[in-house]
Amino acid sequence: MSIQKTKLLYEGKAKKIWETNDSELLISEFKDSLTAFNGEKKSQEAGKGALNNKISAELFDYLNKKGIPTHYIKMIDDTNMLHKRAQVIRIEVIVRNIAAGSLSRSLGIKEGTKLPFTLVEFDYKNDDLGDPKLNDQHCLILELVQDEAELDYLRYMARKINYFLQSFYQELNLKLVDFKLEFGRDKDGNIILIDELSPDNFRLWDANTNEKMDKDRFRQGLGGLAEAYTEVLNRIKNR
Ligand code: 5GP
Repeated sequence: MSIQKTKLLYEGKAKKIWETNDSELLISEFKDSLTAFNGEKKSQEAGKGALNNKISAELFDYLNKKGIPTHYIKMIDDTNMLHKRAQVIRIEVIVRNIAAGSLSRSLGIKEGTKLPFTLVEFDYKNDDLGDPKLNDQHCLILELVQDEAELDYLRYMARKINYFLQSFYQELNLKLVDFKLEFGRDKDGNIILIDELSPDNFRLWDANTNEKMDKDRFRQGLGGLAEAYTEVLNRIKNR
């Protein structure tokens, strides 16, 4: 059976999610739109959707081979990815190796400071509230997970993924500063990695120059976003 898009399930800031003629499979269509600061800053970048789809496909494939359960099945074309349907856990799992972004702003830790250990944080995936920080008790009160053991599992998976991705990026002469992961439950109730793995939700710095190769180029008005994402994809392809 060839997989076809049937109905638009959801349109987000960077992707459209389509239902398909197979009730267990969805298609993510990566868009060229760029947003930052909870949608306050908006733009378009030609080719960004295709770059994020291709980079995500490479990273999901790598993590699948390392035994990490993910929703990824395959890339359909430049901007479309086929993946399993999952019920989204509304927690953004943030992993940090080096201080930057909101950690530097909120706690005054100078950008670029190597953290003494990998920090895993939870943000509430809720645009209306501006993705506020969550502690474990908030997660339980909001019933975002079933119990504390699931929060421990999310932290365990996040650290394991960080371990594999750090070594992957090291080979590309890139520093993995921080990133956001999302998880969901598949039809059997297993927690799997979902969403995308792209420089829209990873901070990546060139290991020699500390040049920013991620969405901070847009957030900070540095320009050259498509060029930076293309360089990341080229380094992955030449790995
Ligand atoms: P920060 O909390 O410093 O803004 O973000 C930490 C890391 O998580 C960065 O790599 C950033 O790209 C990612 N991140 C956090 N929240 C979001 C979000 O709502 N959307 C996206 N695309 N990335 C996020």
